[in-house]
Amino acid sequence: MKALAVFPSSREVRLIDQPEPVIAGPTEVKLRILEAGICGTDREIASFIYGAPPVNSPHLVIGHEALGEVIDVGSGVTGLAPGDLAVLMVRRPCPHDHCIPCRSGRQDFCITGDFTERGIKGAHGYMTEFVVDDERYIVKVPKELREVAVLLEPLSVAEKAAEQVRIVAERLPGYLKVDPRNFRAVVLGAGPIGLLGAMKLVHSKFDTYVYSRGKADSPNVRIVSAIGAHFISSEEHPPADLAKMLGNIIVVYEATGVAKISFDVLSVLGVNGIFIFTGVPGVTAPIEIDAEQIMRNLVLKNQVICGTVNAGCSSFEEGVDDLGSFMQRFPAAVRALITARITLDDARDAVLSRGGIKSVITAA
Ligand SMILES: [Zn+2]
Ligand SMILES: [Zn+2]
Repeated sequence: MKALAVFPSSREVRLIDQPEPVIAGPTEVKLRILEAGICGTDREIASFIYGAPPVNSPHLVIGHEALGEVIDVGSGVTGLAPGDLAVLMVRRPCPHDHCIPCRSGRQDFCITGDFTERGIKGAHGYMTEFVVDDERYIVKVPKELREVAVLLEPLSVAEKAAEQVRIVAERLPGYLKVDPRNFRAVVLGAGPIGLLGAMKLVHSKFDTYVYSRGKADSPNVRIVSAIGAHFISSEEHPPADLAKMLGNIIVVYEATGVAKISFDVLSVLGVNGIFIFTGVPGVTAPIEIDAEQIMRNLVLKNQVICGTVNAGCSSFEEGVDDLGSFMQRFPAAVRALITARITLDDARDAVLSRGGIKSVITAA
């Protein structure tokens, strides 16, 4: 079968032929990959600044955002059957007995760093034709979501962020539960992770503002309006304007991977505010930030900064429910996130170029 692989030692990215995987254990499931999303992480791996092949493999098959159709199941599989649609989770637990998060099914909080991630770190990914994995890493998707379910992995980032916000908000005397419409939330960035985060915030009833570069007539900004959120151009308004325009900002959901703009917005976070980081910046020269103002605010305004990576099973399941709701509320906006569909034969060029919101590799 075909697969798109990176070879870090020779710095090559190319389509390869590899043996089709087979079911080797009773709880394993074989899927035919229907769609695989391309994201910034894939582009970084294909530029050799991130990612690691499996032990003893010269190459890594990339891709970590996939929708598949179940075509075969082991004798002990209970939750999936041939014909079902399903998405695959990314991270797999480390082997250490003392890693309580991994032993509890929350490898997104692994404490040893010896986890693997399919398509990213130490395990082949999903830009291929067939995949086998244990049923515990596979989440069933209703057939109605077929055309957009490839968005569930990036949505799981927003879902885990929402879980973290809920947990952090528990410290507050209940007021976020009163009526979130009274509370301003800001999303930094209008790429797929930002727009899916904005959908989640709107759906959770926050008064939601997307702060990003971009022109008011761009496809990304049209999605912002279509879901009932508001766009603020970072080219027209510096971060200091946000507090003046919005009052007390209670949640900032960062989806840019750019440290400067993120910390500038952190300096205008409101009283009891929560700032969620999801982006991974490249490591460049140190930047200047207003550290004293930020530290004063953190203390005097009871603020919390929280980073979040990856997602657990519950975030994928919540994503399935929410994606169904998004498709009821603003189906055209959800569909508009996918701006190109290409075949695996053309995937190399698509990974090595940019453009559009989300490109998806689709089975021929
Ligand atoms: Zn991704
Ligand atoms: Zn672990």
